[in-house]
Amino acid sequence: MTDATIKRLSASESDFNSSLARLLAWDDSVDHQVNESVRHILHEVKTRGDQAVLEFTEKFDRLKVGSVSNLEMDQSRLQQALETIPRDQRVALEKAAERIRDYHERQSQKSWQYEDEDGTVLGQKVTPLDRAGLYVPGGKAAYPSSVLMNAIPAKVAGVSEVIMVVPAPEGVVNDLVLASAAIAGVDRVFTVGGAQAVGALAYGTETIPAVDKIVGPGNIFVATAKREVFGVVGIDMIAGPSEILVICDGKTNPDWIAMDLFSQAEHDEQAQSILVSPDAEFLDAVEASINKLLPTMERADIIRTSMTDRAALIQVADLKEAAVVSNRIAPEHLELSVEDPEAMLEHIRHAGAIFMGRYTAEALGDYCAGPNHVLPTSGTARFSSPLGVYDFQKRSSIIGFSAEGADRMGRVASVLARGEGLTAHARSAEYRIKE
Ligand code: NAD
Repeated sequence: MTDATIKRLSASESDFNSSLARLLAWDDSVDHQVNESVRHILHEVKTRGDQAVLEFTEKFDRLKVGSVSNLEMDQSRLQQALETIPRDQRVALEKAAERIRDYHERQSQKSWQYEDEDGTVLGQKVTPLDRAGLYVPGGKAAYPSSVLMNAIPAKVAGVSEVIMVVPAPEGVVNDLVLASAAIAGVDRVFTVGGAQAVGALAYGTETIPAVDKIVGPGNIFVATAKREVFGVVGIDMIAGPSEILVICDGKTNPDWIAMDLFSQAEHDEQAQSILVSPDAEFLDAVEASINKLLPTMERADIIRTSMTDRAALIQVADLKEAAVVSNRIAPEHLELSVEDPEAMLEHIRHAGAIFMGRYTAEALGDYCAGPNHVLPTSGTARFSSPLGVYDFQKRSSIIGFSAEGADRMGRVASVLARGEGLTAHARSAEYRIKE
């Protein structure tokens, strides 16, 4: 078995900036054929509803049924799945769900109001979405953890109805996914996948209700469909490949770090794993661990390609410079594998999730730590945040003028409206000014 050849970069080299830019670049070119096919599927679902959903489900998932209601898994089916999965799986899912719920309950936003001296009331009313749609991938593998991470924040936010869609190729549904839906309190489940599921959730069909926002990961057809329906409904994000950046002071077991890098690399060939350290010998030791451990991995081929194409070992002068490099990358997952992670934290500005100290493996965050595993990728942690309760709540402004307030602010509005040439605005405000 061949070794993985991993790029070495040094922050002290004059061409470091361009080397880093090349490392971070990935092929996000739009596939026109996928675009065209997704647009066609969405148009058909929008105009022909259930019938189109049935046809595409037969075509892409080789599942033929007489009506879309046959594709709905009712609550008793979800309960049955919960009761039949292996006991250790059920206990682990329930424990993870409890921790995810606890964490997200702390994110709930509250409505607020305040009153001016003249009795004018201003505020913000927080309202959960009426309906959220959750896409759960199911083409090649099943992701029960995705169900928990997407559905629990929606339920904590108070969303009245969470509708889940998951493809069931040849009619096979994953019981762990259904059991997770039962644990998370998902209201309705349809075994529909791909762009047709996204279209059904966005536009509604005779059987599948339209939702207000669609969340959850999926393949290129799902991601393209979400991009297309954005505006008709809200979406969470379009995720790029997974990423991990580990900052290590050189004192953690190199095998631990190698496996942490693998934990992202095994997702897919485009995933990115980067180690930053001031200790050159430690970088050598981790490279040796990588090549020692690679043959023991079930997904060795994916890991090798990902490590060869997209990984890097970056040498820096000190931990302060490591933080500067990390902030430029704005990674999805950042491990601070150092003696004093708290001291480093104040230098970290951009990261989806920050894993503190040598004992905090990123993998725990993927499943059961509590915080969400849906995180900003491809540098978008510069301006966006993990999926949370706030993604399922919206805010309305509250404005209530007293007679005194209307008089006082009406004069201001009148001047501004006349300045803009909007007479109706000005007169509407002036009517309420006291003589
Ligand atoms: P999927 O559910 O995303 O896609 C399956 C659907 O794709 C099928 O139902 C079918 O309708 C559609 N499809 C397949 N071929 C098609 C074609 N030629 N034309 C039109 N539609 C077609 O399941 P998957 O394929 O296993 O992909 C799962 C994806 O989700 C992976 O890319 C994985 O990396 C990603 N994922 C990401 C995260 C994350 O957190 N970022 C988590 C889990 C999964």
